[in-house]
Amino acid sequence: MILLISDLHLEEERPDITRAFLDFLSGRARSAQALYILGDFFEAWIGDDAMTPYQRSICEALRELSDSGTHVFLMHGNRDFLLGQAFCKAAGCTLLKDPSVVDFYGEPVLLMHGDSLCTRDEAYMRLRRYLRNPVTLWILRHLPLRTRHTLARKLRSESRAQTRMKANDIVDVTPEEVPRIMEHFGVKTLIHGHTHRPAIHKLQIGEHAAKRIVLGDWDKQGWALQVDEQGMQLAAFDFVNPQLALPNATQ
Ligand code: MN
Repeated sequence: MILLISDLHLEEERPDITRAFLDFLSGRARSAQALYILGDFFEAWIGDDAMTPYQRSICEALRELSDSGTHVFLMHGNRDFLLGQAFCKAAGCTLLKDPSVVDFYGEPVLLMHGDSLCTRDEAYMRLRRYLRNPVTLWILRHLPLRTRHTLARKLRSESRAQTRMKANDIVDVTPEEVPRIMEHFGVKTLIHGHTHRPAIHKLQIGEHAAKRIVLGDWDKQGWALQVDEQGMQLAAFDFVNPQLALPNATQ
């Protein structure tokens, strides 16, 4: 069994989400052969050399899971794209490129964070190209800590992050972009997060039935996609009683 989650936006100011995630790691995730975290795992990340005690505790919890035998894969989101190899090594997880094609029970599946699909937000796409440029990344990683803190605050206030992002604040994916990229990678399944609009969209790509699965963000409840030989199941769960089945917005 494989589990996929995204957009936890972990931060010290949200002990409820943190608790739910730690429970998830020591509970349900233990029986998974692999856990994929598709970006915006942390609300902010200014560099592996600036890990706070809080972030270190999350790193150690991931390490316990990976030591127990579950493979942990991590993809960057737009909030935590500075997360690097030092963190991954300490946490025992593998950094995945965005996009990546993986094999789930014999089927090629395309995994993305999802922000690169929101091409209508032209200002953001320009900023993304600039921030993800290897030269910019190198400079960012070598700036003094104080400067990085200031920059991170500036970026966050510019993305209206004073309050938690709601789906309405985030530009949705460009519909034409989806079949284009799926055809490019030759897949019938795309899984991504970012938009905070959990759903399973049935698609038709050429002759073939296809689907786009959008993971949910963790805010009032958690979301996980479970993949096994039987298929894929996207479901929300209660933070305190994860066994509790919640009315599923996607069905
Ligand atoms: Mn995002």
